Amino acid sequence: MSTITEFLAEQKRLTAGATTGPWAHHETVHADNYVTAGGGILSGTHVCGPTYERANAAFIAAARSSVPRMIAALEAVMALHPNTSGECHTCSNEWGPLAWPCPTIRAIEAALIGGEG
Ligand SMILES: [Zn+2]
Repeated sequence: MSTITEFLAEQKRLTAGATTGPWAHHETVHADNYVTAGGGILSGTHVCGPTYERANAAFIAAARSSVPRMIAALEAVMALHPNTSGECHTCSNEWGPLAWPCPTIRAIEAALIGGEG
């Protein structure tokens, strides 16, 4: 199992390797003549690809800018919960700081790479 740091490093590597964003998804609209089942000709326009393909393309295009923002957000939260000699001084109870990884770090770890959370 990888660590959160390894997961984020891989996301950064993928982001750095991709072309600069923002990306956009553009529909391709064709003007065509269609031959109907009965042999007639219909003229009109259509958008290529099933709806799910267009939705996937829009998702991929949006990931170009959303993934770097999510990496930055996760790193900002993680910076608030550093491992300080085996304790998180942000998370504490009436007896003092909680052991690291604290519940916040464990929740991030569970969401990103699996685990008990
Ligand atoms: Zn914490």
